[in-house]
Amino acid sequence: MATNIALVGIGKIAVDQHVPAINASDDWTLAATVSRSGTVDGVPAFTDFDQMLADRPDIPVISLCLPPVPRYDYAAKAIAAGRHVMLEKPPGATLAEVHALQTMAAHAGVSLYATWHSRMARGVAPAKAWLADKTITRAHINWKEDVRRWHPGQHWVFEPGGMGVFDPGINALSIITEILPQPMHLQHATLEFPSNCDTPIAARMQWTGNVSGDFDWRQEGPQSWDIHVETDAGHLTLHDGGARLLIDGAEVEAGTDREYPALYDRMAELVKTSASDVDLSPMIHVADALTLGKRVAVADFHL
Ligand code: NAP
Repeated sequence: MATNIALVGIGKIAVDQHVPAINASDDWTLAATVSRSGTVDGVPAFTDFDQMLADRPDIPVISLCLPPVPRYDYAAKAIAAGRHVMLEKPPGATLAEVHALQTMAAHAGVSLYATWHSRMARGVAPAKAWLADKTITRAHINWKEDVRRWHPGQHWVFEPGGMGVFDPGINALSIITEILPQPMHLQHATLEFPSNCDTPIAARMQWTGNVSGDFDWRQEGPQSWDIHVETDAGHLTLHDGGARLLIDGAEVEAGTDREYPALYDRMAELVKTSASDVDLSPMIHVADALTLGKRVAVADFHL
């Protein structure tokens, strides 16, 4: 039988991915939305989260699609109300607040799932399997996109906690931390901050293990979401955010793309046993970059 779920924050990603994934699944019924402005046709809509929690005890699972800064208060209230919680990426504005949510969820006996949709891209699992017994000699992330195209009007990305270029860049970090057989830690980073922004628009990173990354949000024309890994026994490249995998230059057929459906499958599994799945390693690399990185001021930027 399908379980009732509420979606909170009916913005770009909720409409593009969450609503279709929930509607296509036998595990879930979209039973309510909460948003100050967005609604979904045919679904009871609330503008106040407390009201929804009070009025709908029949909804045991809450999926939070808000930006990271406002998300903690919603997650804490949902857990306090005994609901299972699914978090969009990045799972919070700070590491400590996600640790706090983990503790709360454990005490309340509910699931907390910090989702990483890019880990569900179809090339990622076969890339991980192929790399498992190899020695990595070099890896490079090239993650360059046009923020004006993908985040029109979303000023929060340049406000404190918005993470700037790491909002998409953390997707690359979620993949590399999943596929590499050994951990890495940051050695150097250079972060470019537009003078009128509180978050970086570009970053160059160097980690241990000869792993590097270039992230930029000013790329017009073709967009780049690529990870290249060289090993003692060949090389692989993930293109298109993990959707395409090439091993030694040959395309690997890896099935159909179902990132968000796979996240909702995983949440259904977790809820069965009130288990949690919270891996903060991608966010640790962002926090480390903001701690260790050299800051360079660049030209003002307007969305
Ligand atoms: P968005 O459209 O700007 O915002 C999502 C929703 O959050 C909006 O509907 C807004 O709802 C609500 N919201 C924004 N600020 C709020 C606040 N201070 N208090 C309460 N509600 C607030 O953002 P998005 O692109 O969907 O991104 C949301 C999350 O999904 C981010 O963490 C992002 O990294 C992640 N994500 C985005 C994409 C993408 O392509 N955009 C892809 C994957 C993951 P109301 O104003 O209607 O209340």
